[in-house]
Amino acid sequence: MDDDLVAEAARYFADACSASGHALSSPNGPSCRCEALAARLDADNKTRFDAQTFDVSKAFLKVDGPDAFPSAEWPLPALMRTVVDEITEPPWATKYPAKRMVRVTKALAHIGELGLPPDALVRVGLARHLRLMITSFVIAHFRFNDAAKPSSPVPEVQDWLDLALSCLDSSATGQQTLPNDDLLSVVPALWRGGFSDKIDDWLQTACIRDIVAWQLDAEPHDALTEEDLNIRGGREAILWIMDRFSQTHHSTWHRTSLYWELRFSSNPEATAAEAGLPVSTLSQRPSHTGLIVEAIVSRASFALDHETAVDDITHDQLKNQVLFLLQRGFTAKAVTTLRTVLRTYPGLNEVRSMLAFCLISIDPTEALSVIERVRPEAMLPSELISINKISALWRMGEAQSARKLLETLLPSFSEKLEYLLWQPDDLAVKPGSQLRIASLTAKKWASQALAALPPLDDVKQD
Ligand SMILES: [Zn+2]
Repeated sequence: MDDDLVAEAARYFADACSASGHALSSPNGPSCRCEALAARLDADNKTRFDAQTFDVSKAFLKVDGPDAFPSAEWPLPALMRTVVDEITEPPWATKYPAKRMVRVTKALAHIGELGLPPDALVRVGLARHLRLMITSFVIAHFRFNDAAKPSSPVPEVQDWLDLALSCLDSSATGQQTLPNDDLLSVVPALWRGGFSDKIDDWLQTACIRDIVAWQLDAEPHDALTEEDLNIRGGREAILWIMDRFSQTHHSTWHRTSLYWELRFSSNPEATAAEAGLPVSTLSQRPSHTGLIVEAIVSRASFALDHETAVDDITHDQLKNQVLFLLQRGFTAKAVTTLRTVLRTYPGLNEVRSMLAFCLISIDPTEALSVIERVRPEAMLPSELISINKISALWRMGEAQSARKLLETLLPSFSEKLEYLLWQPDDLAVKPGSQLRIASLTAKKWASQALAALPPLDDVKQD
């Protein structure tokens, strides 16, 4: 933008106007507003510059190095980064777990002094982050260990693995008791199943020390009041404060945080009061209305395709949930979920593609019409859309059309990416039967499909 040029032009004009005894602008004489305008634009330009060049990690330049112990003199961004970075790191992976504990608890205490209750930050603000990191950590153990009985020499890690195994055990619906070779079913089961609930329980009941230490077998916390767990602005305000003091770029903020920021930039006192934090704390990061409006605008189109789908569920979680339902035969439930999301966000192209995929199994004709409205994009290559189209035709009993289309498109299929697809062998059997999901590249799927589809000449039209 040319804001700096505008400010400079106003200054230039004000100087000339003053020199002329304000004859340049108006008959107002000494009450001419040229000076005031130049001063306002100049201040605005400076705020914008400060906000634009603000960098969370620079806060560490003002402390005795990022490895020091947090003190009351630390700026909030340095405290916040220390907590966010270190609490989400597995304690066993750090070189000095005891030092990590002191750093995080000290930082939390000072954040509390600045007005944000530590329990609210950890149990509410960081809940999703912690759940994500712990689950990823456990999944990594399943992946690189014997998936049927992953083990660790660290007892605290073993506790998490045992918990995960017991949750998988009880969530399996008779088909299989243990995942064994089926990592595909472990992943969504851990994200969405009882395991995720157990982490939530732990986040609510364990004392902060044990949460910081990722200690599953935890001491309960002392009774917490509502004031310990929340601030006046509620969960979204907590996320906003977390975002603005731990994330430099607006593009990685929660969407609701952008709206809080917009209100704050235009009315700091009232917004701080509404959030429930001292304005002095919030002012540790400069804010500029024009800048945040630009962030919201640039986000709006992006958000529709890539961001939150429903409430708190992210795109990946939605995908995992759908997969979880499909693998347990709850296809109709998966379809209902996806339709609900699309009713609110009809622009979610990838969700539409997922819906088409689910429908292939139970209503291939409807699937075909949904596929017509899916457009290819970076995360959704046209070969994937084509395979779903071929699968739908095949499932409808139109084996000849399916084969024809497959043979036409085959040269464009690649071996680069693996997709979750309906198993070709299953599509060959009669409609209505249960389908299985396989992870295959487009080329692999095509070669299996060509083996299972009758050759063109032999297909009789019914
Ligand atoms: Zn003037």
